[in-house]
Amino acid sequence: MEKVMTINSGSSTVKFKLYEMPEEEVICSGNCERIGEKEGIFTIKWGTNKESYPCNFPTHNEAAHKVIDTLLEKGFIKDFNEIKAIGHRIVQGGKYFSESVLFDKETEDLIESLIPLAPLHNAAHLTCYRAFKEVLPNTPAIAVFDTAYHQTMAEEDYLFAIPYELSEKYSIRRYGAHGTSHQYLNQEAKKYLEGVEHPKIISCHIGSGASITATKDYKVVATSMGLTPLGGIMMGTRTGDMDPSVFNYLVSVTGQSAEEVYQMLNKKSGLLGVSGISNDSRDVLEAAENGNPRAITTINLFNRRIADYIGQYFVRLGGCDLIIWSAGIGENEPRTRASVSKLLEESLGVKIDEEANNKLHGQEGVISTDDSKIKVVVIPTDEEVMIARDSYRIAHEIKDKK
Ligand code: ADP
Repeated sequence: MEKVMTINSGSSTVKFKLYEMPEEEVICSGNCERIGEKEGIFTIKWGTNKESYPCNFPTHNEAAHKVIDTLLEKGFIKDFNEIKAIGHRIVQGGKYFSESVLFDKETEDLIESLIPLAPLHNAAHLTCYRAFKEVLPNTPAIAVFDTAYHQTMAEEDYLFAIPYELSEKYSIRRYGAHGTSHQYLNQEAKKYLEGVEHPKIISCHIGSGASITATKDYKVVATSMGLTPLGGIMMGTRTGDMDPSVFNYLVSVTGQSAEEVYQMLNKKSGLLGVSGISNDSRDVLEAAENGNPRAITTINLFNRRIADYIGQYFVRLGGCDLIIWSAGIGENEPRTRASVSKLLEESLGVKIDEEANNKLHGQEGVISTDDSKIKVVVIPTDEEVMIARDSYRIAHEIKDKK
């Protein structure tokens, strides 16, 4: 049994989880919030216990120290060396990374070179990596990329129709995101596909951020998010795909700067922007059920975009053996699963078992009827355990080589 820690960092947050591997048992988890603000919050959970209290985190360094000190204080580790690997989630791996790798100087430099593609995320990941490196200098760090799983796409699936030289010069293409989640879902899906020779899967990670991925033989052929997570289906606060001229038109009619409009498309659009109510689908669904016309339009738009992508990927794959629902909405919201499935019934023969669907809130299970042309399942995603698995495996490979 060995301990592996996973880190998911943002510009003002660090989420951590400590695992016992290879059992994949969670020892504890928690987060440091509001890093860089006047007063931060530290939370740690283990078993059924939870502690949460104010704590100052001027930088990620204090957060890293706080995490490790707490693990020692609470006896989850006896000394630093007990942590055999530390896996960092990295949002943007560009064209360089098609799998998880050791976080060495070369990896660090490449992640740094990708900062322009993911300014908030990659910069924060590096700051956090360096902070933990200071606290745990001898523990191998592993970089696990959100984009890596999508690297198997063909050029016609990842290229945008802008002048080719610009795509080449500035590395502009569809990179996708949520790759770790889609990979996990594909691995977990194997048990539903026994006997299927070349499995075709459409996985729907529908949370606050949302993306859909099509895989053939468990390799990605298409994914909905684009150069950044702004592309694809409609999300909590993001637009998803739209005619790019909307951007230019908004700049000219509102007098806002390009950056302000870009922020609006990322943070004030989607469920929030169309409904004017909330970015949380529960609030919008409730308003729609109470007859609010804008909420009804919002929900219809949201569902339609998901169905459109599933239809597109059905054609791209030449069929589909399994549709997977996952993430906040996908795992917990039978109404969204039922409404989207209804939109797929006539053309794709998808049929949902209402009782099975209504029962599932955050659990795994089949929700299609026996005579549905495509099997539909709910699988709760677990990006952290994928990070822990890769970190454990790579740390062992390094040890074995020595
Ligand atoms: P992200 O990881 O992208 O922040 P999540 O996957 O956690 O997002 O999804 C968050 C969204 O999922 C919420 O905004 C809400 O719309 C929906 N959601 C979360 N929990 C539930 C629930 N218990 N029932 C219904 N919807 C939920």
